[in-house]
Amino acid sequence: MSHMNDFSQRVVAWYDAHGRKHLPWQQQRTPYRVWISEIMLQQTQVNTVIPYYERFMQRFPDVLSLADAQLDEVMHYWSGLGYYARARNMHQAAQQIRDRYQGLFPDTFEQVCELPGIGRSTAGAILSLACQQRHAILDGNVKRVLARYFIIEGWPGVTKTADQLWEKAEQLTPLQDVAKYNQAMMDIGSGICTRTKPGCSLCPVNDTCQANVQHRQKEFPHRKPKETLPVRKTTMVLLRNANDDILLQRRPPAGIWGGLLAFPEIPANQAIDQWCNTRLGITILQQVVWPEIRHTFSHFHLDITPIVIETRSNPDRVMDQGEWVWYKGENETLGGLAAPVKRLIRELEKQRA
Ligand code: SF4
Repeated sequence: MSHMNDFSQRVVAWYDAHGRKHLPWQQQRTPYRVWISEIMLQQTQVNTVIPYYERFMQRFPDVLSLADAQLDEVMHYWSGLGYYARARNMHQAAQQIRDRYQGLFPDTFEQVCELPGIGRSTAGAILSLACQQRHAILDGNVKRVLARYFIIEGWPGVTKTADQLWEKAEQLTPLQDVAKYNQAMMDIGSGICTRTKPGCSLCPVNDTCQANVQHRQKEFPHRKPKETLPVRKTTMVLLRNANDDILLQRRPPAGIWGGLLAFPEIPANQAIDQWCNTRLGITILQQVVWPEIRHTFSHFHLDITPIVIETRSNPDRVMDQGEWVWYKGENETLGGLAAPVKRLIRELEKQRA
């Protein structure tokens, strides 16, 4: 028996004995249900995903219910999971499936890969887990296992390293039991071969794993070369009217927090009272500058200076529709709020209490 077959056989045997089999997306495994779970799990831990997944499935049980929903509502169900482009792409993909494939999830690898937000690994996961097709996967967890097992040099974000990892992943993926094998590789990566403290004694391939044999687990996968993030600055207006409602503005679809509700930002070259006057037609009653808070994106830090403004008058240029929204308290359904906006609203509400 070849070494490769031996690897996948041990992984599959491990799955039969120890793998997780009762996660919500492992029941009634349709491509739709697997797809949504894979997207949610991309940047988020299993235990965090479960309640979001169940709420999402209750509201959007199939492709058509998702495709026909308003983006706002989809964002609302996504709010808290972060990386909102994922939800926008998912909504678009559902509409493409509705319009091009009569609502039936496509079952060829090429068609699935063409859908927005679905890359090679996610397409492989959907078709292997839900349709038993043989496709390799290579998510962050599997990358870690393979980089250690074969002590593959280089940061996986570099094409050359990624290509090597894909090659290994393709070679190892078995013809039979591919769903079990792929699920097991993800489980081993997230539960055993963890970033900081891999539990090698529990791992089914520990005696042939190069990193384990050479005690070099910590070196692999190689880390991203260090870079310091640039800092951007902005000023946000936390405007409260006489009813204690808070003014929010819908962000444009492209750019950071695309489509979410946020506090209005003041252009760098404008004074606050001038902005309030020209943009909203109000006079400021009182203004308080709060200490700066930092929100970190993958590519930069955003340092936000919040300015709390009280006004008596109801700004007549502000409508309750379109771009502007009055936030009237926690219980309202508003669609997604950007993370620092939630944090600042909580501060405002604490003050009021
Ligand atoms: S033996 Fe350890 S380092 Fe190697 S794959 Fe298993 S858990 Fe990861």
